[in-house]
Amino acid sequence: MHYRNRKKLLAIGLVSILLLLNGCGNAAERAADSGDEKAVSEAAASQSIASSQEAAPSENTASSQTGTSSQNAASSAEELLTREVFAMDTYMTFSAYGEDAETALDEAEAEILRLDQLLAAESEDSEVAALNKNGGGRLSEDTAYLIERSIALNEETDGAFEITVYPVKQAWGFTDENYRIPSDEELAELLPLVGSDQLELDAENKTVTYKKEGMKIDLGGITKGYASSRLTDIFMKHDVQGMINLGGNVQVYGPKPDGSGWRVAIQTPERTEENTLPWLSQAASGSAALAGVDYIGVLETDSQAVITSGGYERYFEKDGVYYHHIIDPKTGYPSDADLVSVTIVSEDGTLADGLSTSMFVLGLDKASEIWRAHSDEFDMILMDTDGRLYATEGIKEQFTSDLEIHWIA
Ligand code: AMP
Ligand code: MG
Repeated sequence: MHYRNRKKLLAIGLVSILLLLNGCGNAAERAADSGDEKAVSEAAASQSIASSQEAAPSENTASSQTGTSSQNAASSAEELLTREVFAMDTYMTFSAYGEDAETALDEAEAEILRLDQLLAAESEDSEVAALNKNGGGRLSEDTAYLIERSIALNEETDGAFEITVYPVKQAWGFTDENYRIPSDEELAELLPLVGSDQLELDAENKTVTYKKEGMKIDLGGITKGYASSRLTDIFMKHDVQGMINLGGNVQVYGPKPDGSGWRVAIQTPERTEENTLPWLSQAASGSAALAGVDYIGVLETDSQAVITSGGYERYFEKDGVYYHHIIDPKTGYPSDADLVSVTIVSEDGTLADGLSTSMFVLGLDKASEIWRAHSDEFDMILMDTDGRLYATEGIKEQFTSDLEIHWIA
């Protein structure tokens, strides 16, 4: 049985999105000094991906000011300080510039560790784990906010965003990497536990009650976007600008030190160890158009979250069939809609994360319909199973690709 998850992907330096930065070599050298093998491979691979992009016909925007270590003591207002953190099962990079950049990065690091500890359903001493054990309970500000947003998203996505899917995720082994295929009987028993309408949230008093025994919630589909929003608030508070990259999920606040926008590259769905693309139709996975394309495209922004979901980020293979971690709450199976990659662009990181997961479940037509009703709140970049690239009109000036773009209006 083959499997892959984000943590391991990142350990070999493959991120679902990465910023086109110069100076990754500095990170590699620092990592080499510290003897951190994982960091070495990530930094080195990032550099090679960034340089392959330089060779591409699209404009090279690498900035010589990036990649500066926060170990540098004195910082000028234009110097970009970076901080590398491992949390939420992934490698993260925070970059900031401005008078208080060092303080902002300290706070950002503390905040991400706090949120990780609070929200991870898998770690036994988290608040979410305690709620799952006790069938509900008192909520911190963060958890109350996230459950409230999740229930609202559930309603807006016809039930596709569903935090109560956790018992099903467990049955597939995605919570502890003991991957297995649950029987139809087992899923039929678990599905009645799935449903946000069975969560009784008292937002004012900050409590939640699970109406059925055995229900469990999982905020994994929304946590990183919320975290990047919180970190953006910290940047704002300290009047610093910069970029937050949580394992390929990016949020930027303000332009780069040279005044230009950040260029966020969206990765082509990852190949398997056998160098195949099982997420795509037979014809598309062998298509010349996708061969050798590292990036779906590049988005330039100075104020948004750019968050991607795809089955290729965490999956296992059994008897030639690939099973991924985004569950269709209606069936209890990994969703099998017509999309392989969903990127949401929004100033609201929490929304972007929740939508990236749920649009993946909903598929192209339904996602487009929801976008048309909320086009002032977010934009999307989608790749379907035939390898066709779609993007919504709101980012027409920001998004470029070597592939043909089908604009959604
Ligand atoms: P993301 O990488 O943001 O797409 O989040 C994927 C994670 O969200 C999974 O690993 C699960 O923890 C969780 N998840 C899976 N299916 C759903 C769903 N239908 N709604 C909400 N969260 C989900
Ligand atoms: Mg998500």
